[in-house]
Amino acid sequence: MNWKKELVSSFRSPDDLPQEFALSDVERSCFGKVRQKGLPFLVTAYYLSLTGTNRNDPIRIQSIPGIEELIEKPTEVTDPLDEEKYKVTGRLIHRYPDRVLFLTTDTCAMYCRHCFRRNFTGHKNGPAGMKEVKEASAYIAAHKEVREVIFSGGDPLMLETSLLEKYLYSFKNARQDIIFRIGTRIPVVLPSRIDNTLVSILSEFKPLFIMTQFNHPREITETSMGGTSLFIDAGIPVLNQAVLLRKVNDSVETLEALFTRLLFNRIKPYYLFQGDMAAGTSHLRVPLKKGLSLMKELRKRISGMAMPVYAVDLPGGGGKVPLTESYINGLTDKGWELKDAGGKTYLYPDEEE
Ligand SMILES: *Cc1c(COP(=O)(O)O)cnc(C)c1O
Ligand code: SF4
Repeated sequence: MNWKKELVSSFRSPDDLPQEFALSDVERSCFGKVRQKGLPFLVTAYYLSLTGTNRNDPIRIQSIPGIEELIEKPTEVTDPLDEEKYKVTGRLIHRYPDRVLFLTTDTCAMYCRHCFRRNFTGHKNGPAGMKEVKEASAYIAAHKEVREVIFSGGDPLMLETSLLEKYLYSFKNARQDIIFRIGTRIPVVLPSRIDNTLVSILSEFKPLFIMTQFNHPREITETSMGGTSLFIDAGIPVLNQAVLLRKVNDSVETLEALFTRLLFNRIKPYYLFQGDMAAGTSHLRVPLKKGLSLMKELRKRISGMAMPVYAVDLPGGGGKVPLTESYINGLTDKGWELKDAGGKTYLYPDEEE
């Protein structure tokens, strides 16, 4: 089925959901309230087919709004990464010296209940106009320190392929030496979108990397891996940025299955993100302490290639920093005292500079 036709069959209201979801009246009423607060309900028929009806189902938690979303904690904010502060044009964010992030569109195929950019996503602003794209391209032409353009949103693969090509062309035209990244959840929620036309057009803009967001091993299906394989076979590397989510993937077994299956499918686990302080997402955040101990345990169990970097985007716009339990006890008279994954200590000699 053509992906546009498939989108027509997406689920948009509580009344669309099958009886088995057994929504209470209170739950039903929260769909409207959640929409008023910012993030609409929308889920593809494909993703819903993976969703169990139990309230604790890891796929359901990511896709069906719950009353918990109406709770806002005093520590939560609408723009958790202070992105407004780093905007250099209408939709271009320049926070790190050598890379910029472009908000291509605010539309997604599914609105993830944990989305940290919910102040922008799903607000019906649609794709960036060509004037905005040209402005952003001019910016990178003038700023030679920029090596990478990250297409984000929203979901860049929701753009018509021809429009996406225009965007890519504009940036490439401004700077032949640019590296592209496309951050997308399409492979997880609408794999039929990935077709040969899309892949062959993206291939023209190499080096180009696809960054997916698989959060649970059940999202790794024959269908979704069919989509990602098309990219990889065409020489477009695929990396994964997972989000650590309560009751979804906050166990060693789940993360182990997720990362090792991704690796088996040639997808490199790149980041595991600690939840951002986006309003209405506290029920999905995992305590940082638990995240650290999960990573420590994983380190013992799985291949280094399957290990992502556990990271947090510092509230207030500090950028991403890795979170890790230190394996360094400190420098003693005898040298550096280091620990192995099990906590046993070892000495590594200190060297003169
Ligand atoms: C995450 C992010 C990047 C990319 O960071 P990496 O650590 O290189 O993956 C770039 N710009 C912005 C604004 C970001 O939020
Ligand atoms: S796909 Fe990304 S931008 Fe869209 S709702 Fe999910 S997390 Fe947010």
